[in-house]
Amino acid sequence: MGKVKEYLDELIDCVICNNPISTDPYGWSGGANAEPIAEGRCCYDCDASVVIPYRIAQVFSTDK
Ligand SMILES: [Zn+2]
Repeated sequence: MGKVKEYLDELIDCVICNNPISTDPYGWSGGANAEPIAEGRCCYDCDASVVIPYRIAQVFSTDK
């Protein structure tokens, strides 16, 4: 098994807070999907504090 480091060597910036997205324990540095807040990738802090609450709010505001 070779190293799989090359595919995402440079960090991307979070589209919400503009901080570089850090690599998670699994080696994934792509962050989380920032939609519908923004288009692109966001860090896990913003995902947990902004994106997920927004999604939950949307779910509860949807009429059945
Ligand atoms: Zn962020």
